Amino acid sequence: MGRLFGTSGIRAVANVELTPELALKVGMAIATYTNGGDVLVAHDTRTSSPMLESAVTAGLLSGGSTVHRLGLAPTPALAYLTRELGMDAGVMLTASHNPPEYNGIKVFNSDGVALSPEEQSRIEEIISSESYQRRDWRGVGHAVDASGEIERYVNAILSAVDLKREWRVVLDPGCGATSALAPELFRRAGCRVYSVNSQPDGFFPGRSPNPTEDAVRLACSMVRDLGADVGFAYDGDGDRVVVIDEEGRYAPLDQSLAAYAAHVVRLHGGGVVATNVEASMCVDEAVEAAGGRVVRARVGDVHVAQAVKEHGAVFGGEPCGAWIHPKHHLAPDGVLSSLLFLAALETEGAKPSDFLSGVPVYPVVRVNVPCENSEKPRVMSAVDGRIEGALQPVDILRVDGVAAKLSDGWVLVRPSGTEPLIRITAEAKTEERARELANFVVKLVEEAKAG
Ligand code: MG
Repeated sequence: MGRLFGTSGIRAVANVELTPELALKVGMAIATYTNGGDVLVAHDTRTSSPMLESAVTAGLLSGGSTVHRLGLAPTPALAYLTRELGMDAGVMLTASHNPPEYNGIKVFNSDGVALSPEEQSRIEEIISSESYQRRDWRGVGHAVDASGEIERYVNAILSAVDLKREWRVVLDPGCGATSALAPELFRRAGCRVYSVNSQPDGFFPGRSPNPTEDAVRLACSMVRDLGADVGFAYDGDGDRVVVIDEEGRYAPLDQSLAAYAAHVVRLHGGGVVATNVEASMCVDEAVEAAGGRVVRARVGDVHVAQAVKEHGAVFGGEPCGAWIHPKHHLAPDGVLSSLLFLAALETEGAKPSDFLSGVPVYPVVRVNVPCENSEKPRVMSAVDGRIEGALQPVDILRVDGVAAKLSDGWVLVRPSGTEPLIRITAEAKTEERARELANFVVKLVEEAKAG
């Protein structure tokens, strides 16, 4: 059996690769892993989610677990309540930002943190060896309705923010898991809400579950046309948020991450911010100018959450819009992030465009070089051996591929986890320099491939 779990759990086309049979096995494995513990289960709006929820539930019950059914909820709500309700594990049925035909299974531990690669391997081992714990008829589990528990999450989020003015906010949940919750939370926080794509719909008729600039065009024009103060759009399962400024412009993702990170550091009078190896150097610049320090983790919110914990960070985030607020919980939370963003605007007395404009946006060049999976280790080690002498970096980072930091930019070489490619990312203050750096490393990779 190949690896089931990727950086975001199991993700595949529903009823083709991600079948009810597989979901059943995952449920049985989690029941085994937790020794028939209490498991909170939630799902997003996808058409295949109830099918997979039923299968996972059957597997959990077979192993003696008590299944607490949260129902339709964003991933961060499931993660928060898993810890808050003292569950042994949480299971979220979602494919996040993937197209509608996909679905996925993301598992959380009792701390409300996505399973680490080691914990995931343990689940995989149980499945591949079929060493399931099966209870006899007296010991099979039972399922209880836990949908009312969502109110605990709502109250926790509302007590995290205390807004003074009535903000006029455009929200675009994209027909995903935040469809009902995001508008309700903003209204209860005292905002005037204009929403679009806020009817739950597994066909995602309004836009892609991935909130790209192109996908959220309608929300951008609504901010402009309605003269709203700000707009927010979420991905399919609500752990990511993108910001739209008062002019209806889509905020570059690294820029909003850097501006918000610097704000948190200012609030704390210093502190560590965790991000991943792909984030822009504007994050380091903004955080350092505010008196803080940046640590970099591997790509994936599990790794950033781990770095947040390990370094006692005041904030963690990836440039895809997954922001972690350790004061509240350790899972990225789109709705919480957007409400805290509003609170930040209030504290700083700034409009979104002013809040963001302090952070420069630098050009990034990305190039993929084809490389067979079996060749990746050899090629990466050859590039690693040469990059230092060739580029004379001021710093070199090996947490995820090899990243060389220079005085005027950086370049990252990373084997793709899913495709036969080696990915090269370069950032510099000018487009020309970024291209030069990328091309130089492409040459190193090509030479390494030629052996
Ligand atoms: Mg997501």
